[in-house]
Amino acid sequence: MSEDQQKKNARHKQAMQKQKAKVDAHIAAADTERGVAVLLTGNGKGKSSSAFGMVIRALGYDQKVGVVQFIKGAQLSGEELYIKNQCPQVTLYQMGTGFTWNTQDRTGDIAEAEKTWAEAVKMLGDPSYDLVVLDELTYMLAYKYLDEQTVLDALAQRPSEQSVVVTGRGGGSALQELMDTVSEVKDVKHAFKAGIKARQGVDY
Ligand code: ATP
Ligand code: MG
Repeated sequence: MSEDQQKKNARHKQAMQKQKAKVDAHIAAADTERGVAVLLTGNGKGKSSSAFGMVIRALGYDQKVGVVQFIKGAQLSGEELYIKNQCPQVTLYQMGTGFTWNTQDRTGDIAEAEKTWAEAVKMLGDPSYDLVVLDELTYMLAYKYLDEQTVLDALAQRPSEQSVVVTGRGGGSALQELMDTVSEVKDVKHAFKAGIKARQGVDY
């Protein structure tokens, strides 16, 4: 090994030691053990698919998972098909209506939203669920189909060991305040805007 390489390696080792000390200190400081409330928001692609990534993580540990979807597209997404067909242990409830700009029926949508929320409430009140995903819930708040305080209370009062993931654009500052982890997916660019059709296995 050249002298230059040896120096580089020594510098790298020193930097990694420093980094490890930092990480270890953060790990030691995080001493609270409880379920986590995660909000995945923003205009970019990746919110629901990230939530379903957590579903797979939880299933890897045989955890009990519930998924409630507040907006169902006309076509079932791959992850929905997979859960329906391959994961009988996952409780999946889908709102029985399509996108609100398709139904154009506010009263009907509100009734469906409330019915769907009732399913979410069951899961949020059941300590046997380790993870509950509330996909596209934010739109129910944005359209005022569901009462914000009722939703916030149910999220806050869920069993302490239960984690919850909420997805959807917006959601409001009170929801952001309540959640433990909030990630905003930024729309830098999206294939669809360049005329590329939504792709099976990627977009749905
Ligand atoms: P995904 O389910 O792929 O993680 P998402 O949950 O972040 O996406 P949604 O608003 O729920 O986003 O929309 C889902 C569909 O819309 C996907 O087909 C996704 O590729 C597409 N989509 C998401 N964001 C954008 C965007 N900024 N521009 C165009 N299409 C988008
Ligand atoms: Mg989504």
